[in-house]
Amino acid sequence: MKIYNVPLTLVDSLKTKEIIVRSPTPTDLLHYLSEIQSDNLIGIQLLSVEKDNSILSEIELSIPIELNIDDPSSEYSKLYNYVELSRRVDFKVSIKVKPDFEKAVKVALSLGYQVKLEVGQPDDTLVNNLIEIFKHYLSNPTVTCPVEFFHSVLIAFFHKHSTNIWEIQDEDPSSNIYIKDNGQKALSMRLNEIILEDNVDNFLDERRLQLLIEQGECATCRFFTYCIGYFKIPDNSYRCNKILELFDIIKTAADQLRLDLQETNKHDGAHE
Ligand code: SF4
Repeated sequence: MKIYNVPLTLVDSLKTKEIIVRSPTPTDLLHYLSEIQSDNLIGIQLLSVEKDNSILSEIELSIPIELNIDDPSSEYSKLYNYVELSRRVDFKVSIKVKPDFEKAVKVALSLGYQVKLEVGQPDDTLVNNLIEIFKHYLSNPTVTCPVEFFHSVLIAFFHKHSTNIWEIQDEDPSSNIYIKDNGQKALSMRLNEIILEDNVDNFLDERRLQLLIEQGECATCRFFTYCIGYFKIPDNSYRCNKILELFDIIKTAADQLRLDLQETNKHDGAHE
């Protein structure tokens, strides 16, 4: 299934496809909602954090809502305004990894919201904060909701099965296409300057091959299978030493969880 992320104004041209509709404000959403064919609508993305979002209580929905936090330092305190909505729908906050993002993540988790990290190309300080948040996510018993991309990468390392961060972050164009406000197809909201050709189903295969031919940092990276050069776009000169530290910490945690589980199973078996 291919999912299209479309602005409210272009819903008509894609209404036969599976769509996630993005709306600048809850008011716009309410205005357009009755015109959207609900069969094809599989999600809503709210692009702004409103202080007063009482209008959302007028919306009857059974599909997931994702709220974008673009400026965590000024917006994290407004997350408290979404408790009522989060109890009615499958609710997730997508938080840009910028200064103070960790405050937003902790508030979101304390309120029981699912979190997705819009990670981009973080500097060393931000990666240190990502590591702190991963440890908080893993070890704090009050945290009950997933934090992506950590959660899926941890599960993949644990089960030793293959997934990749493009897929986890909904940025694999074989399954997710971002439609810009002008109608062009782009790689994602984060990478909306990268315009897609019509046939993009082989994007990741081609990227994998290109990175191996280039023989850069990715070609010998121990996490290549899971990453496929995700952190090298848009700036190919980005150095991954700190990101590798984060991946190593997630992998060590997954290995330890597996060992703990094996020990528990052995112990239980000995008592049967
Ligand atoms: S972690 Fe960095 S070096 Fe490794 S595959 Fe990803 S982008 Fe390439």
